Amino acid sequence: MNPVEQRFSAVSTRIDQACGTAARTPADVRLLAVSKQHSADAIRALHALGQNAFGENRAQEALQKMAGLSDLSIEWHFIGPIQSNKAKDIAQHFDWVQSVDRAKVLRKLAAYRPAPHRPLQLCLQVNIDEEPQKAGASPAQLPELAALAAALDQVNLRGLMCIPTAGADASTTAASFRRMVALQQDLNARGHRLDTLSMGMSGDLELAVREGSTMVRVGTDLFGPRPPRT
Ligand SMILES: *Cc1c(COP(=O)(O)O)cnc(C)c1O
Repeated sequence: MNPVEQRFSAVSTRIDQACGTAARTPADVRLLAVSKQHSADAIRALHALGQNAFGENRAQEALQKMAGLSDLSIEWHFIGPIQSNKAKDIAQHFDWVQSVDRAKVLRKLAAYRPAPHRPLQLCLQVNIDEEPQKAGASPAQLPELAALAAALDQVNLRGLMCIPTAGADASTTAASFRRMVALQQDLNARGHRLDTLSMGMSGDLELAVREGSTMVRVGTDLFGPRPPRT
């Protein structure tokens, strides 16, 4: 196996084993390959192994790669901060946006999603540990944002995404993941139909799967260390 195959196989095995430990079905946990700072060729190599969902966090960088990969059927997820002046590009070129955290951005994404496209699939990003300076809506803001999403055409609210405090111990991170599950349940009790919990990265995907993640976002352990931005 070449290094790409080795890393892909290792991450897939970790997800399968975590599902086994948690008595969950591997088909219920999707792998999002976070390709930020990696080349279009690196994406192509992973796609050739069967990976079809890729995540990017900068619109301009992503659009350049997409142009070189238009022959492939890829599901693109935007997972980074959304500047207002990039909302149009993001709405028109991505299938999913996981980093929606305020009403203004939500309205713009819906307005810019062209009608022949299927609705944009959305996750609300939650600042689950309520860290100052960190992106994401506070848990208290979620009902209002979810209601707005439900009222807008061309967007489909699928779930919640979080990035817990970096470097916290496992029990603290597990508690954050559990609060995400409770927030999803609360929104569904209000009539929403969220089926996605996007949580878990290279370092904590097993923990996230154990606590109920349905989508892990893995960069480093799939692609190797990120080269510096040029
Ligand atoms: C970069 C990034 C990841 C992947 O992180 P790794 O630790 O490299 O697996 C996941 N989610 C988001 C939002 C990211 O920006």
